[in-house]
Amino acid sequence: MTRTISHWIDGAERPSTSGRTAPVYDPATGAVTAQVALADQAEIDAAIASAKRGFDLWSGFSIARRQSVLFAFREILNARKGELAAIVTAEHGKVLSDALGEILRGQEVVELATGFPHLIKGAYSENASTGVDVYALKQPLGVVGVISPFNFPVMVPLWFVPIAIAAGNAVVLKPSEKDPSAALWIAQAWKDAGLPDGVFTVLQGDKLAVDGLLESPVVQSISFVGSTPIAQYIYETASRHGKRVQALGGAKNHMLVLPDADLDLVADAAVNAGYGAAGERCMAISVVLAVEPVADALIAKVAERIGRLKIGNGAGQNGVEPDMGPLITAVHRDKVSGYVDIAEADGATVVVDGRGFTVAGHEEGFFFGPTLLDHVPTTSRAYTEEIFGPVLSVVRVASYDEGLDLINSGEFGNGTAIFTNDGGAARRFQNEVQVGMIGINVPIPVPVAYHSFGGWKKSLFGDAKAYGIHGFDFFTREKAITARWIDPATRGDDHGGINLGFPQNN
Ligand code: NAD
Repeated sequence: MTRTISHWIDGAERPSTSGRTAPVYDPATGAVTAQVALADQAEIDAAIASAKRGFDLWSGFSIARRQSVLFAFREILNARKGELAAIVTAEHGKVLSDALGEILRGQEVVELATGFPHLIKGAYSENASTGVDVYALKQPLGVVGVISPFNFPVMVPLWFVPIAIAAGNAVVLKPSEKDPSAALWIAQAWKDAGLPDGVFTVLQGDKLAVDGLLESPVVQSISFVGSTPIAQYIYETASRHGKRVQALGGAKNHMLVLPDADLDLVADAAVNAGYGAAGERCMAISVVLAVEPVADALIAKVAERIGRLKIGNGAGQNGVEPDMGPLITAVHRDKVSGYVDIAEADGATVVVDGRGFTVAGHEEGFFFGPTLLDHVPTTSRAYTEEIFGPVLSVVRVASYDEGLDLINSGEFGNGTAIFTNDGGAARRFQNEVQVGMIGINVPIPVPVAYHSFGGWKKSLFGDAKAYGIHGFDFFTREKAITARWIDPATRGDDHGGINLGFPQNN
C-alpha cells in the first residue's frame, strides 16, 4: 500500500478522512511513490479554525519570544537542509544541488525575517500638533493563506511564511499537490523551533482547498504563486471576498544580446538559465533575442554546450549528479513536446531536438532533452506562450529597438536580461523595458531577500511583491493614532472649549 501524505493541523500530521487523493510521482522513474490527501470542506474548516486559535495565541507573544522562534527555525533549516533537498528532488525531480539552491534562497528570507522588529516597529511623531503626538502601529492581519506552485516547493512558501509569522500572523499553506512533502518537513521544523501549534498549518489539496481559503471570512489575505490564468482567478476571487491579495503568475523571459556582448558569457548564461531545473523556473530564460550579426555564432556556442549536458536522475546516477533532471509529470512533458511541434510547424528550425529523449535505466521517467530552436516566428504560440520546459528559442532581430519592442509587446513582465558591454545601452534598457526584474549581464535576476520579487503585467496581479519591504507591508495592517494627554500641571482645567470646525494642527 502506498503512503498517504496528509495535512498538518494543530501541530501534527493529521490523517485525512476526505477519501480523495492524487498520486505523487518520482519524476525520474515515473513511479507513484505516494498519494496526497485532497482536503474536503470539513478538513478546510478544521485547518482554518486551528489557525485562528494559533493566531489568537501567537499575536500576543512578545517580539522577543517571536524572534527566538525565528532564529531557531533558521538554525534547524540551515543544519538539516540536505534532508529537505532530498525530499524536493524525490518529488520534483530537480538535481540535488539545485534543490539545495532553492532552500538557500528561501533561507535568505528567513534571515531577513529574523530582523523583523526593526521592520515593523512603526513610527512616532512627537508634538505633531501642539501637545498632540501621532504614531503608527503595524499589526498582523490574522490568518493568512499561501498557495504555492510545484516548481519551488520550499523557496516559494519561504518567500511568505517567515515574514507572515514574524509579523504575528498564522499561516495556512496549500502546497502544490505534485510535491507536497516539503511543506510537512517545514511544519515539523517550525514545531521543533518552538512555534505554537496552529500558527503554521499545511492543508493539502486541489481547487476545493484553494476555494475554501479564498472564500473563508476568517482568512484575511492570499499570497499565490502559479500560472497566469489561475493567478488571475485567485486575484479576482480573493478580492471579491474582501481579501488583501498578491498573485504571482507565469512568465516568458527574454534575454537581449547586443552585438558587443561577450558571446561565451552569453552562451553559458543562456544554457544555465534556459535548461536549469529543466526550464521549470518562472525566471528561466526562454527566448534569446540575438541582435544580428551574432545569432549564428551564438547558436553554435549554445549547441556545443548542450552537447556536454548530463541529463538523468536528479538524486544522482552512478555516483554522479547530472546537470538536469526530468520534468514534473508525463502530461507536462507531452505539453512541452507539443510546443516544439508547434514551433516546427510554424517554420522554426529545430537545432537541437529534445523530443523522445530517454535516460538509460529510467525509461519511464518524465525526461525531455534540452531543445534549441532558431528562427522562431513571433506569431507562433511557441513564442507567445509560456512553455515551462527546457526549450530555448532564438529570435533574430536587427536592432536593440526591435528587441525591446518585442519584450514590451508580450503579455508577461516577470524577468529579462540584457547582455552587453555598453553601459549606456544597459542603462537605457533598464529605463525602457516594461518588466519587473532586470538582469544586466545576469541571466536569472532573482532579487535578494531585502529587495522584493515580482513582475509586471500578467506576471503579478495585485500591488505587493513578495518579500523585502513589500512582504512586511503586505503582512501587516497599519493603524495611525493621534493622542493628546492633558497635563494638569500646565493646562489646569483648560479643555479647549467648543469648536465645530474641522480639526487643524497648530
Ligand atoms: P498552477 O497554477 O497549476 O498551480 C499553482 C497552485 O494553484 C497549486 O497549489 C495548485 O494546486 C493550485 N491550482 C491549480 N489549479 C487551480 C484551480 N483551477 N483553481 C484553484 N487553484 C488551482 O501552477 P504550477 O504548474 O504548480 O506552477 C508553474 C507555474 O507557476 C508557471 O506558470 C510558473 O511561471 C509559475 N510560477 C511563477 C512564479 C513567479 O514568481 N511569478 C514563481 C514560480 C512559478
